[in-house]
Amino acid sequence: MLNLAVILRESAACRPEAPALLHDGGTMTYAELDARSDAVAAALLTRGVGPGDPVALQAPNIPEFPVAYYGILKTGAVVVPLNVLLRAPEVAHQLRDSGTRTLITWAGAADEAAKGAAKADVTEVFVIHAAADSPGRPFTDLTTPVTEPVPLADRSPTDIAAIVYTSGTTGVPKGAELTHFQMYMNADIPGRLFEIKAEDVVLTVLPLFHVYGMSSAMNLGIRFGCALSLVPRFTPEKVLAAIERDRATIFDGVPTMFGALLAYTDEHSYDTSSLRVCVSGGDAIPAHVFDAFEQQFQVPILEGYGMTETASTITFNPGPDDRRPYSVGRPVWGVEVQVWDDEGRRMPPGRNHIGEFVTRGYQTMRGYHGHPRATAEAFEGGWFHTGDLGYADADGFLFIVDRKKELIIRGGYNVYPREVEEVLYRHPGVREAAVVGVPDERLGEEVKAIIVARPGHALTVEEIVDYCRERVAAYKYPRLVEFRDALPLTGTGKVLKKDLV
Ligand code: AMP
Repeated sequence: MLNLAVILRESAACRPEAPALLHDGGTMTYAELDARSDAVAAALLTRGVGPGDPVALQAPNIPEFPVAYYGILKTGAVVVPLNVLLRAPEVAHQLRDSGTRTLITWAGAADEAAKGAAKADVTEVFVIHAAADSPGRPFTDLTTPVTEPVPLADRSPTDIAAIVYTSGTTGVPKGAELTHFQMYMNADIPGRLFEIKAEDVVLTVLPLFHVYGMSSAMNLGIRFGCALSLVPRFTPEKVLAAIERDRATIFDGVPTMFGALLAYTDEHSYDTSSLRVCVSGGDAIPAHVFDAFEQQFQVPILEGYGMTETASTITFNPGPDDRRPYSVGRPVWGVEVQVWDDEGRRMPPGRNHIGEFVTRGYQTMRGYHGHPRATAEAFEGGWFHTGDLGYADADGFLFIVDRKKELIIRGGYNVYPREVEEVLYRHPGVREAAVVGVPDERLGEEVKAIIVARPGHALTVEEIVDYCRERVAAYKYPRLVEFRDALPLTGTGKVLKKDLV
């Protein structure tokens, strides 16, 4: 038996009075978190929710998220996390596709969620921080304390703990079925690599409804009995203030967060000396941001790589003393990653041997919920196809070059947007840059750069074009340049490239 909620039960048994959650309003100890999630579990069980039933959970990083999350898991039910930014049709799709009947949402998202739920088979909606005019019932209906601990439902390691929606490499969002064992291991192995200790404080701003925040911050922190410093929404000042207030030692972020923190601390100062390690993942971190952040904050960044289907991390830089900057690291324990060409042949190491990363091992999902064809395609040849392009070096460190679907083919030549972005980031007037391919009648695609300038820099199109022309081959430099105030971001903080095309 392995119920993922055991990570909370064990930490609560070992460290009942230690802080599990630090947030604006105070502290919740491990004993309290365990008891409060027991209350949710007991209430769900009385309502007939049980093993295998999907229960949707939609909230930002507030204490109620882990309370509900572990409560759902304790019953053996399956967590279906929903992004708080979803519109009603998107909510409806994910609820219908997963067969969800119970939805726990939050006041800030409840109106859209309830509209979506009305178009699905949802029978009960509970609202965290409900107001008088909120739809459904208040979440407090699920929080009446219980006197006895709720026994963890017996789950086999291959039973599903969560169904997490992702666009994957193609089409409408599909639900990745993540198992108890897969998620348990993801809470365990990466933490060991950087020698996480119970005294660590994990700054948790990555959304908990996305696997990166869920596995690599929340489950990992809870597994090792650490305190999670919860920040509901990313702003540089909120994160820096929380690091200072809670003496955070570990910060997990996506590259846009590192860039924003860097820019903000140009003019504001905070005490971040408690940080001992930062983890970057979810997207490629520009070399310039990586170097400047490490220098300014005096803390190593360990880069990792993974995706929803792998419940977060499959490769990681083994530790502050054994890492390779700009590499996403080596496969973690129990995971294989290979580089394949288009014919499914394994490619040798070397930066000239760029192919698709494929992976297999305990860390890979069971499949896409209710989509056997998409599952079979994703697992062609017995390995999961990531859709990411890159290469391995002779020591097995992996380097991502780009995503397969973001590769630009201009007049028959391959242009990897990331390479051009790296050049743009070195321009002193560029704060953020994204490169995309736009349709072109003659060439098939043309290279376009979208730039956010640093305050005080009046950039021109010619300046950017010339800067790139001097630094990359003629077929690669952007002929089209657009300036914007900000880049569109996903709920997690990754650049939303499809909105730029
Ligand atoms: P998601 O399913 O939303 O977690 O997105 C997964 C995708 O994010 C991967 O397939 C990669 O394309 C990208 N990704 C994750 N980590 C990294 C990284 N360290 N460097 C570059 N891309 C990454």
